[in-house]
Amino acid sequence: MSYSVDQPIEYIRGIGPQRAAHLQKELSIFTLGDLLIHYPFRYEDRSKVYAINQLGGMEGVSVQVVGQIQRMERIGQGPKSRLEVLFADRTGNVKLVWFKGISYIEQNLKRGFNYLVFGVPKRFGSQLNMAHPELNPYNPDQLKEQGFYPIYPLTEGLRRKNIDSRFISRVLKPILDDPRFVMPENIPHPTLEKFKLPTRTEAIRAIHFPPNLKWQERAIKRFKFEELFMTQIKLLQVKSLRLSKSPGQMFTNTSLLTRFYEQHLPFDLTTAQKRVIKEIYADMRSGKQMNRLLQGDVGSGKTIVSFICMLLAIGSEAQAALMAPTEILATQHFHGLSGFAEQMGLKIELLTGSTKKAKRRQIHADLASGELNLLIGTHALLEEVVQFNNLGLCVIDEQHRFGVAQRARLWEKNKTKPPHILVMTATPIPRTLAMSLYGDLDLSIIDELPAGRKPIETYHMYERDRAKIFSFVKKQLKAGRQAYFVYPLIEESETLDLVNLEEGFISLERAFQGYHLSMVHGKLKPENKEFEMQRFVKGETHIMVATTVIEVGVNVPNASVMVIENAERFGLAQLHQLRGRVGRGAEQSYCILLTSYKISKEGKTRIEALSQSNDGFYIADVDLKLRGPGDLMGTQQSGLLELRMADLAQDGEILKVARDEAIQLIEADPELIKPENSGLRTFVAAKQQGGKWSKIS
Ligand code: ADP
Ligand code: MG
Repeated sequence: MSYSVDQPIEYIRGIGPQRAAHLQKELSIFTLGDLLIHYPFRYEDRSKVYAINQLGGMEGVSVQVVGQIQRMERIGQGPKSRLEVLFADRTGNVKLVWFKGISYIEQNLKRGFNYLVFGVPKRFGSQLNMAHPELNPYNPDQLKEQGFYPIYPLTEGLRRKNIDSRFISRVLKPILDDPRFVMPENIPHPTLEKFKLPTRTEAIRAIHFPPNLKWQERAIKRFKFEELFMTQIKLLQVKSLRLSKSPGQMFTNTSLLTRFYEQHLPFDLTTAQKRVIKEIYADMRSGKQMNRLLQGDVGSGKTIVSFICMLLAIGSEAQAALMAPTEILATQHFHGLSGFAEQMGLKIELLTGSTKKAKRRQIHADLASGELNLLIGTHALLEEVVQFNNLGLCVIDEQHRFGVAQRARLWEKNKTKPPHILVMTATPIPRTLAMSLYGDLDLSIIDELPAGRKPIETYHMYERDRAKIFSFVKKQLKAGRQAYFVYPLIEESETLDLVNLEEGFISLERAFQGYHLSMVHGKLKPENKEFEMQRFVKGETHIMVATTVIEVGVNVPNASVMVIENAERFGLAQLHQLRGRVGRGAEQSYCILLTSYKISKEGKTRIEALSQSNDGFYIADVDLKLRGPGDLMGTQQSGLLELRMADLAQDGEILKVARDEAIQLIEADPELIKPENSGLRTFVAAKQQGGKWSKIS
C-alpha cells in the first residue's frame, strides 16, 4: 500500500464521505497532507499514573489515577440526579461525578476491580472531584503504549459529530505506524545535520505520537524551523531573482547634493540619519534596483533623509516621487519640501484626489516631458495616466498602508529600468516580523532622535483628574503651545463616537474660552479637513480636537500636549503613533492617557508600556506579544506567512538561525539546482503552483 499526502480524506480508512465533508467544511482539511499538518496543540500525558494524594496540586490538568471503587451513590431524582462514586487508591480518594448516562455507568462499574481513571481534578471544599472522567479496566501493559495522547484543535460542530481528538488519532496512528510511510524531505540534509533536526518523517510521527517529551520538543522545533526557513527561502529567492533580472538605474552625480549640504541643510543630521543615507546611496549607485525599508520612530527625521536621497536621483537627470497614505500627509510633505525644492531650483508638484482637472493635466504633461523633478502625492500617483519621463526613485511613506502589489505597480512606472524604491515606516516592526514579512527588502533603521529632543512625558489619568488636566493644558496654551485632544473612532459605532467627539468639542469650547479650537474627523470633506488642519498648523487655532485621522505623520512642532480620551480603546501601536504627534519641537511635551477606572488587563499592559517607554521598538515588541503577528501585519500581508507552529513573538531565535541558513543557501545555490537541494526545490515549486504537497510513496 502506498500513501499519498494528496489523497482525499474521504478515502482514508475510518473517515468516509460524511465525516470528510465535516472536516472539509469546518477545518478546510481536504487531504491526508492537510490532516497531517493539523498538529495537536497539546498532549495529555498518559504514560504516567499519579497517586491520588498528588492531585491536590494538579487542579485543572488532565491526569490518570489507578484505584478501586469504594462507594457508589445516586443523589437526587429524575433529570436532576447525579451519580457519585468514591474512588480510592492507597494514598487517598477522589469523588467521580456523572450527571448524564448514569444508569449505564451504574450497571457496568464493579467493586473489587482496578480501574484506570482519566479526568480533570477540581476542588470543592476539602473534596477533590472529577466530573465525567474516562474510566477503563486497568491493564498495565496497555498503559505503556499509551504515551502522549494528542489533543487537536477542533470545533464544537465536529465534536457533535463524534470527530474528536481520539477519532483523529485513531485514523492517523496506523498510517504513521506503517514503516512504509514517508514524508518527502524538504530541508536539505546538510542543514538537518548541522542543526540536529529530525527528518520530516520522524518529526510528523513524533508530533502526533511523541514517545516522550524529548521527541515532542524535537518535532516542534523541526516544524518551527521548517516554516520559518521556507518563508525565508521564498523571500530570498524572489529577491535574488529580482536582483539578477532587473538592473537598476545608477546614480552618481552628486553636485546637487553637495550644493544642498553646503548651502541649505537646516540642521546637522544625526549619526543614524547619515548612516542610513550612506546605505541608500550605496544601493542607488550599485547598478541594482533598490528595495529598501527605512524604519524610524516617529520624529526621527525620515522626511529629510528621503529628500536627500531624491536629490541624488534628480541630480542624475531622473525624477523622484513621494507617495503618502493620506491627503493631509501628502499635503504636509509638499509644504515641507517645497521650500527646499525652490531653494534648489527644482520643480515640485502635489497630486491628490482633489487636484483640479486643469492642474492635473498640467502635472501629467510636465511629468511626461521631464520638466517636473519631484512629485508628491497619494494613491493618485498609481493611476495609469500618471506617466513619468524617467522615474528614478519612489519613496513610499508609512508603508503599512500599502501592499506589496502596489509596490510592484510602482516598478512599472519606469518601463526601461525600474525605479529604486524606498519604503518608510514609523510603525517600528519588531525585527523578527520585519525579517519574515519584508525579507525581500533590505532594512535600514534610524534608531536615534535629533539632538535636543526631550523625551515625551506620559501619564495615565482618570476622569476625576479632568479639572487638573484642563488647567495643565491651559498653562501650556498660555505659554504659547498648542494641544491635541483625541477621541477614539471605531467603525462599528461610528455615529456614536462622532456624537462623543462633538460633545467633547462643545465641552472643550466651554472649558477653553478665549482659545480657538479646530475639529477634524473622517466624515469631513477632504477640503474642510485640510482647511482645519492648516489652521492648526499655522497656529490660528490652539486646540485640535480630532479622531485618529491625525495619527499618521502630521507635523506641528509647536504642539506640546496630547490628551487621549478613552485611551483604553486604542491599540498600542496606534497610541504610540498618536503620541508621536507631540514632542517634535524643542519644548518638553506631554501625553495624557485618560481612561475609565475599569480597564482590562491587556488595556492596563498597554497603558503601562506607554507610560514607561518612548521607544517604538520596545512598544512594538510588547504589542507583538499582546496581539500576535497576524493582527500586526494587517490583512494585506497576512497571507504571506503560513505559520502553524512558529510564533514570531516567541521564536525570534529560531527565525534568526533559519534566516542565516537560508541566506547562505540561496547565495551558494540561488536556483536550487544542487542535488542536496532537490527536495527543497520540489517543495518550493509545488507551493508556487498552489499545490500543497507532492506525492509520496
Ligand atoms: P518622521 O520620521 O516621523 O517622518 P519627520 O521627518 O517629520 O519625522 O521629522 C520630524 C521633525 O524633526 C521635523 O520637523 C524635521 O524637520 C526635524 N528634524 C529632522 N531631522 C533633524 C535633525 N537632524 N536635527 C533637528 N531636527 C530634525
Ligand atoms: Mg513622517
